[in-house]
Amino acid sequence: MHRHQSRIRRRRRRLPQGTTVTDLRMMRRALELARSAAAAGEIPVGAVVYRDGNVLGEAANNREASTDPTGHAEVVAMRQAGERLGSWRLIGCSIAVTLEPCSMCAGALVNARMARIVFGASDPKAGACGSLMNVPQDTRLNHRCPVVGGVLRGPCAQALRAFFRRRRAERRAATASG
Ligand SMILES: [Zn+2]
Repeated sequence: MHRHQSRIRRRRRRLPQGTTVTDLRMMRRALELARSAAAAGEIPVGAVVYRDGNVLGEAANNREASTDPTGHAEVVAMRQAGERLGSWRLIGCSIAVTLEPCSMCAGALVNARMARIVFGASDPKAGACGSLMNVPQDTRLNHRCPVVGGVLRGPCAQALRAFFRRRRAERRAATASG
């Protein structure tokens, strides 16, 4: 009993400030979506749009299958949520996404009036929620959106690392046999 409680406390300490139990549940779902995308040959990023604990849209990056340059998980999940709500304004909604949104997605999230952005791993090469720029908090824009980063960052980053490692190995094997 005592040991179990201290384990829970330790886990809580690792969660970034502002993370809710619902955020954590939605990030776990986003991670599942990311992993299944990897199995389909897509870069593994998953996203879930939710409000009041209900999922309104969920998707993984599908750029390869859809041949859509905007087919990032956040955009696809937001489209579903808009349809579901009958409005492009995603008022009161949060998004959990396994990787820090890029400039395109951060821009779309601000345009959608998203209430909160929760992301997993940081993206030092393309992240637009604090890494390269900080679109959701830019005071020049007409809407600002609080960001919580680093939720389940370990497993989120690991899914990406494993994907790229496997792809490199497959390409090496193809070159060797080709
Ligand atoms: Zn993006």
